[in-house]
Amino acid sequence: MAQVNVKSLNKTFPDGTVAVEHLDLEIRDGELFVMLGPSGCGKTTTLRIIAGLEEETSGTVTIGDEVVSGLRPSQRDIAMVFQFYALYPHLSVRDNMAFPLRAAKAPEAEINERVLEAAKMLQLEPYLTRKPSKLSGGEQQRVALGRAMVRHPKAFLMDEPLTNLDAELRADMRAEVKHVQQRLNTTMIYVTHDQTEAMALGHRIAILNKGKLEQLGAPMEVYERPASLFAARFIGSPPMNLIEAEVTNGHLTAAGGMQLLAPEGLKRGQKVIAGVRPERLTVAADGDGARGRVVSREMLGDETIFVVDTEAGLLNVRMPPTARFAEEQAVSVRHIGAAPPAYDPQTEQVVS
Ligand code: ATP
Repeated sequence: MAQVNVKSLNKTFPDGTVAVEHLDLEIRDGELFVMLGPSGCGKTTTLRIIAGLEEETSGTVTIGDEVVSGLRPSQRDIAMVFQFYALYPHLSVRDNMAFPLRAAKAPEAEINERVLEAAKMLQLEPYLTRKPSKLSGGEQQRVALGRAMVRHPKAFLMDEPLTNLDAELRADMRAEVKHVQQRLNTTMIYVTHDQTEAMALGHRIAILNKGKLEQLGAPMEVYERPASLFAARFIGSPPMNLIEAEVTNGHLTAAGGMQLLAPEGLKRGQKVIAGVRPERLTVAADGDGARGRVVSREMLGDETIFVVDTEAGLLNVRMPPTARFAEEQAVSVRHIGAAPPAYDPQTEQVVS
């Protein structure tokens, strides 16, 4: 079993910077767990503490059944892959991948077998005799991944491993990471600030903000019902519309007269902020809804994103490519579908 548990974790750096605060995470055996958040939210520090590269101020980390506090990184049976692939330039791909096993004094036959197994899975067999400088960025990153795989660690820890790659390669490598994780079924903790990457990869996503856990859930849970305005703003592109509204008779009513189904449990007259995904709004030339004017449209081929200026604010609307509204055109925007999540304007937390 290689679940990873983080309990009441705190980290304050000597200069007084609080990087992690009261963090509790229970990462399941075999899970691909993503830590997501903006720069400085504490995700790297948390990963480094799990790896043993940084010491916690208080709290405990358990890997498998073992409390690892005080253990060196090499004693924790984990493998790390960083943003910088850090391959040994003078060693061939084969020797780079064999390195951790040689360091652990594994028998040569076993080393060969494990390197070949990893090379096969990552389609690196043709490159085994090459030096890293003769490989593309994506190939180098695959070697780094292969080097992490050969030891059959209890868990993989990955810190923005794909950041240096161009967009297309990043998408390919993302699929590769997911595939490897599924094949090996090894617990993986993956740190990123890229919400698309988090949504595409994670079995579950932990959103961190200022060293604290903001939300923990499956990608669709986090997408459909962000726990706070911070999470709502962070996940989704274009972002969720945050519309001020008041609870009326069974509805939420926004400025300009837009009506949304009210979620349960709210009081009449209560003021909330409704979180509405762009695909839950629709534009029409006329009809009911908030009247406004098209400010911009972005035609992406498979969809068109309209930004409409209404009394309820600037609204992002995702429409099929057949929707043809011109910039400056007067239109109305209507909500479709189920009741949206509602947030308290003061606490900024979801209330219903
Ligand atoms: P990024 O994506 O930019 O790496 P992050 O979410 O991984 O950000 P951390 O690197 O964990 O964030 O940093 C969390 C906070 O701790 C930041 O405010 C950072 O400036 C601070 N910090 C990190 N390392 C140190 C250090 N050695 N000394 C003092 N403060 C530090």
